Amino acid sequence: MRKNRIGKTDIEATHLSFGGIKLHPNMPDKAENIVSKALDLGINYIDTARCYGQSEVLIGAVMKERRSQCYLSSKSIRRKKSETAEDIDTSLRNLNTDMIDIYFCHDISRDNNYDIIMSESGSLAAIKEAQKAGKIRYTAISTHRADIAIKAINTGEFDVIMLPINLFDQEFITDVVPVALKEKVGIVGMKPLAGGAFKHPQIALRYSLAQDVEAQLVGISSIAELEEDFQIADSFKPLSESEMEELKEESMELGKDFCRQCGYCLPCTVEIDIPKVFLYERYAKRFWLDDFAKEQYAMLEMKGDECVECGKCEDRCPYELPIIEKMAAAHESLAGKV
Ligand code: SF4
Ligand code: SF4
Repeated sequence: MRKNRIGKTDIEATHLSFGGIKLHPNMPDKAENIVSKALDLGINYIDTARCYGQSEVLIGAVMKERRSQCYLSSKSIRRKKSETAEDIDTSLRNLNTDMIDIYFCHDISRDNNYDIIMSESGSLAAIKEAQKAGKIRYTAISTHRADIAIKAINTGEFDVIMLPINLFDQEFITDVVPVALKEKVGIVGMKPLAGGAFKHPQIALRYSLAQDVEAQLVGISSIAELEEDFQIADSFKPLSESEMEELKEESMELGKDFCRQCGYCLPCTVEIDIPKVFLYERYAKRFWLDDFAKEQYAMLEMKGDECVECGKCEDRCPYELPIIEKMAAAHESLAGKV
């Protein structure tokens, strides 16, 4: 598979790189086997984060033997210098390594968070200190806001930036990617499948791979999925006109106001599994799986109507979705009899 240099770094990453967000201890294919298979296929960049559950630890189990075969990145969602310094040390321990190639200030999608991480006592200072100590090689930021991305690139403080790259989030492709390329800040794409919203994920992945992005992450949850995505990238073909039309029609249908399944809104005050509720709603409405979706919803311990409207999830959602309102609508459509 094609490899690309990430910005000014010395990292030559495989165009399709491994997103560790979906790894968890109870996967049918076993997380360690999936990570090992990715390395066997030649994928050489693996991304994870402190807040992806057990993902770092599961990747770390493979790194004991195979650290030299890949580049690693992780992220801290905490904003203060002391907290991020703590997270960096935890990431190093979890990943079984003494050096992480790229470390991100994670999901800087609100102005107040940007101001904190850039301050003297903010996350970036911790990452730079860790860089001096040889624990981190490159500084990075991930965001779901195009204006913040541009501002961050123009500071010259970041070696790498992570952006959503898909048809829904066009402003990143049209406005941010050219600035990053000009400033030689490495571009790592995320969310090529927009949280599973597309009916034809293969086409969506090819769309993302066709953009000017050096490494495109895709969240992997099984060996079959990994092999399929690898194949798509390895024998990459640009979209035909009709495929492009199909994708555009889908994106018009969905608009922008939908859940991307990132899980950043959690934990819910009353433990509603917010992304799952929206996923079941999607099964029912877009994938014609009405009965299945209602059955699954019925099995959830906490349903949408238990929401106490505290608003905490809305403050954390990078897409600023009106979760309270959407939760009520999802409950309405899923709570009916099968
Ligand atoms: S607003 Fe509702 S769904 Fe959101 S965290 Fe509060 S209780 Fe949970
Ligand atoms: S509601 Fe928002 S934060 Fe929660 S999973 Fe969906 S897109 Fe992510």
